[in-house]
Amino acid sequence: MSEEAFLQRTANCGALRAQDEGRTVVLNGWVHRDRNHGALHFINLRDRYGITQVVVDDDADPALQAAAAALKLEYCIAVEGVVRRRPPEMVNHDMPTGDVEVKAQKIEVLSQCAVLPFMIEDENNAKEDLRLKYRYLDLRGRGMTDRIVLRHKIVKAIREYFYKTDFLEIETPTLIRSTPEGARDFLVPSRIYPGRFFALPQSPQLYKQLLMVSGMDKYFQIARCYRDEDPRGDRQLEFTQLDIEMSFVKRDDVLELIEDLFNDVFKRVLDEDLPKHFRRLSYNDAMNSYGSDKPDLRFGLEMHDFTFAEACSFNAFTEALAKGGAVKYLVAPRSDKQDFTRKYITALEDAAKVYGAHGLAWMKVQDGHLTGGVTKFFADKESDILAETGAKEGDMILIVAHENWKKCCNSLGAVRNRLGADLGLIGDGYAFCWIIDFPLFEYNEDEGHWEAAHHMFSMPQAEYIDKLEEDPGAVKGDLYDLVLNGYELASGSIRIHDIELQKRIFRICNFSDEQAQERFGFLLDAFRFSPPPHGGIAPGIDRLCMIVSKVNTIREVIAFPKNTAAMSPMDECPATVEQNQLDELHLAVNLPKEAE
Ligand code: ASP
Repeated sequence: MSEEAFLQRTANCGALRAQDEGRTVVLNGWVHRDRNHGALHFINLRDRYGITQVVVDDDADPALQAAAAALKLEYCIAVEGVVRRRPPEMVNHDMPTGDVEVKAQKIEVLSQCAVLPFMIEDENNAKEDLRLKYRYLDLRGRGMTDRIVLRHKIVKAIREYFYKTDFLEIETPTLIRSTPEGARDFLVPSRIYPGRFFALPQSPQLYKQLLMVSGMDKYFQIARCYRDEDPRGDRQLEFTQLDIEMSFVKRDDVLELIEDLFNDVFKRVLDEDLPKHFRRLSYNDAMNSYGSDKPDLRFGLEMHDFTFAEACSFNAFTEALAKGGAVKYLVAPRSDKQDFTRKYITALEDAAKVYGAHGLAWMKVQDGHLTGGVTKFFADKESDILAETGAKEGDMILIVAHENWKKCCNSLGAVRNRLGADLGLIGDGYAFCWIIDFPLFEYNEDEGHWEAAHHMFSMPQAEYIDKLEEDPGAVKGDLYDLVLNGYELASGSIRIHDIELQKRIFRICNFSDEQAQERFGFLLDAFRFSPPPHGGIAPGIDRLCMIVSKVNTIREVIAFPKNTAAMSPMDECPATVEQNQLDELHLAVNLPKEAE
């Protein structure tokens, strides 16, 4: 069977330069824009690589002119022609191909285009669901194309780094046993074993640990992870992470590997020089100074304890302290970008309240004195406050008091973030940092028991091992997060490799020995066979690509994401299935009343 002949490209639409003058070329691509000036036609032909201007001269033969006149936006065409330099006044310095144009000799329509739901622009301003319904068109836009290409380059550089450092790339299964890892599992019914289910992995965590028991030593995988969570914030039901595990390592070995990896990838892909080592902050210091365990260190605005609260006459402050809480402040510098009006202070207060603050106290520096807000409670301390806080003319001191230290920190941290953005304090560039010394457990108020802050396989720091059960809240773990520009980019830990210690952690997290055996028996079993000390980490690829692409949702760096309602407008999934498919799986659908 012979293939359909068409004019096949000899150059792409981003390639031609002045030195190509005189070459006869064939371009294939899409009609990005076309302008007709009578018999003179300009066609901007686009493909993944760029745009080249094609011209049909006014003295071209009438058939060619007719072909050009019949073109419509986004037709897929082939053009044969001769490269010529543009006259100096027509050179387009914004386009890499802007020195030249192709004088068309033949135009062939490869396929026509239906009425477009939106114009193909560098950045598409259509509603997101419309963009996602026609994602294949949305991806034609320069911005989306560039982001997908950048993502490819990052993943490629990551793989190259690991290949040259002796890591093995190993695939782990995506049909696994349902094992609690923090979020809800996606379940996959088994047809062959009716009534039984696989789960999709929330991460390859247990498999990578088992690979260490196998002696694989250094493992990585670009892994897809699935978490059946409610649509909230910038979550996707499936996301991609760079999953890493290493044997015979201590915490600093993992941190240094990641520093080296990011140094290498940022240099090669973005030509950015990163510091050889990233700043390290303990969880407590990060919370105290920046009000977050993922602080944006592109700006300062550090928070401090408001020491004047101890002996003041303002009840909100003294009570918070009496109940074991904290009173913290930061100084918002005078700014031409934002006046500190009542309305603005209320907006900041609202930001604080999201994290549990009861209110936001404030004082302004005006004519060398403190004024407004809670000043009257501190009249006798004015000069001490000015000296200790360093607040200057026009600055504002913002204070949060809370009986719960964490809520106090997080609330003022939210104010800090808001000020960073509104006062234009956030610089360019990449501020990486490590957060270390996290608590190992968190108390689940709703269920009334402790649970793992990261996951149950993380090692407690040595000094706490003897008395884990006594005060789980005080135990620090060998956990670490990598933070970039205010986003949590990676989490990891040194793992437990001792069965008895692992069982104690399960018990503290409310898993009886029987439940632990039932869910994690295979891991405990494996730990009977000389597991090596090991640890790992898993940076999120979507987030990394989002940050370096300077966009604010991971949907902009995923070719086919779900929308904010956790469904796909393009192929309309999730969708119902045929009754016979359910029958084969021995499943009956029992809809909740409101969904019927
Ligand atoms: N499995 C962990 C996660 O997905 C990462 C790790 O501890 O390596 O967050």
